[in-house]
Amino acid sequence: MPSKKIHKILVANRGEIAVRIIDTLRKLSINSVAIYADNDADSLHCRVADEARPLGGGSLKDTYLNIQKIIDLALDSGADAIHPGYGFLSENADFAEACRANNLIFIGPDAESMRLMGDKIRARQFAIDNNIPVVWGLMGSVEEIAAQAAALPYPVLIKASAGGGGKGMHIVEEPYQLLLSLEQASREAERYFGNGQIFIEQYIKNPRHIEVQVLADHHGNVIHLHERECSVQRRYQKVVEESPSPTLTDEKRNAICETAVAICKSMNYKNAGTVEFIVDENQNFYFLEMNTRIQVEHPVTEQRTGIDIVEEQIRIARGKVMGYTQDSIVANGHAIECRIYAEDPENNFMPAPAQLTLYHEPQMRGVRIDSSIDRPTVISDSYDPMISKLISHGKNREAAIEITKNALKDYIVQTRKTNIPYLQSIIDNKDFLENKIDTSYCEKHQEELIAAMHQMRNDVKKEDVAALFLFYDFNKLFLEHQDIDNVWHEIGYWRYDMNIIVDVDGVSYNVNIEKIRRRSLNCTINGQNYEVLLSQNGGKMSKVIINGMTETIFVSETSDNNYCVHLKGLDFICRRNDELNDTKDYSNNESKNNDLTYCSPMPGKVIKVNVKEGDDVKEGDILCVVEAMKMENNIKSMTSAKVKKVFVVEGEKVDVKNILIELSI
Ligand code: ADP
Repeated sequence: MPSKKIHKILVANRGEIAVRIIDTLRKLSINSVAIYADNDADSLHCRVADEARPLGGGSLKDTYLNIQKIIDLALDSGADAIHPGYGFLSENADFAEACRANNLIFIGPDAESMRLMGDKIRARQFAIDNNIPVVWGLMGSVEEIAAQAAALPYPVLIKASAGGGGKGMHIVEEPYQLLLSLEQASREAERYFGNGQIFIEQYIKNPRHIEVQVLADHHGNVIHLHERECSVQRRYQKVVEESPSPTLTDEKRNAICETAVAICKSMNYKNAGTVEFIVDENQNFYFLEMNTRIQVEHPVTEQRTGIDIVEEQIRIARGKVMGYTQDSIVANGHAIECRIYAEDPENNFMPAPAQLTLYHEPQMRGVRIDSSIDRPTVISDSYDPMISKLISHGKNREAAIEITKNALKDYIVQTRKTNIPYLQSIIDNKDFLENKIDTSYCEKHQEELIAAMHQMRNDVKKEDVAALFLFYDFNKLFLEHQDIDNVWHEIGYWRYDMNIIVDVDGVSYNVNIEKIRRRSLNCTINGQNYEVLLSQNGGKMSKVIINGMTETIFVSETSDNNYCVHLKGLDFICRRNDELNDTKDYSNNESKNNDLTYCSPMPGKVIKVNVKEGDDVKEGDILCVVEAMKMENNIKSMTSAKVKKVFVVEGEKVDVKNILIELSI
């Protein structure tokens, strides 16, 4: 096969995988074309691509799943090839064919391999025909399978032939449940996948999920890039993946990898793929399925082998000999991937799309983040709620776990809910650390993991959070805008004996402020003294010293006017309960001729203007109200006069010296 040139690739995907693919394209000096639906125009994948083409609005069928639109955009942009990523059209054989029919290189296998492996029943039969071990199973219509009810090796698992993403699987424990479950599974399969064909497999108890990354080129070379273990799953979906598998003996490891290569050779597979196995307690492995595309968890393999799998995919698609032989693959150390989701682990992992107010990635050796975002944004409910993937690489499993632990602590994703605390409790869990895992680990440990999440929160002193929040709140302008020449210069050192109520996660704390300076706060909460000192100012991130301990805090304002404070790896919702209840008088007059000018007493915001030019006012009338430091300050007239000029409008931010209103006597 002669090698073809590729100058431009359209990435038929979105989110982190589109960003990750474009990253490799940039490295290879190949131009990238992103595509986006109307609600996605501002997404990171569009911003990092050389060009971005609109798909318009509507449902997924009208956008990321619309073969014709995507082909048209590719042709129109002059792309030579399409990379499908994962999900969406990546395993759609019709799409691969449509690409080829339009002279576009599809970066993936041929349509026939996709059809074979996309149909679990055909794939199973293919494996059986090629002496690859599979779990005992039974195929047939609902009635045919139900007729065998009495003879089945319970528990059994009902699967959809066209299934994927863990959807549509049902465990059946007893014969009497079989018929109803088969009918329900078949209806679901029809609804989800447009194909009601189902089959059953023996349900392997306490299994592991182990898969092998393969690469195959058009010159007969087939290699594996070792295995990944993905036994930590919730609802049959992977959450934490690692490589190497901490479970397999070397003998089994070699056997499983060689079996994966054998499957690819038997089917004449080309490009990157993943062969998935289920492994029982005695390390017997059985072929589950093959994913004919790049996987979500491919980075753990990349980190261990140093191979850019997307680069190899492109090389193979161009018809070149792949860049590696089996002997040249060296896998180093241990890599772990955690999938970061906007979801609620305490509520059956329900997606939690919401406004994200602060995003900050951990920066440390051994950490790679593949992310769909780079700044505060809205996490849409139209797509999968995965925000990013955190991949840690260390010299062994213990080292990779330690890096993951630290990185999760420093990963700031302030939004309604994320699974970061849940991942933290997994990575700290005794059974995880001892690799006592199987695919029902999350289910079996749910209570324990949630309790650990609560314990982590309980371990953080909320008084610390309250004091730090208040310190931030008083210093906001300075912290976020380095606004030194402002309020603190004007009013300098001051003593203020006041009580402020701060709510932390809904619980009120009475804070008695003793002293506030630009870089420090002294207060008492529940009889204990707190001294907060600023150590390093980084905008929304500050290093502070609280009672002698250095902490890093991240604070953002939430969409419902609360504040999210990140401390010790966790986020707390804070608010001041004294807001706007302390009304003070400020009548800062300066007489020049017969005019009186009223200036803002401190930096703040004009929240009300009560007068307009030409109005008559008398002494004590409130001219306008300036909100500063969460307090309303009434600007009152000193005398009877006429309003000469109003310099501000409601909502306007004002500084100390800004003239607000001018009166003439
Ligand atoms: P999908 O294509 O929907 O992801 P898979 O066949 O890959 O479905 O299986 C997904 C997960 O379901 C596996 O990782 C494993 O946890 C579980 N599973 C699949 N088959 C079996 C089985 N026969 N016994 C026990 N668990 C299974």
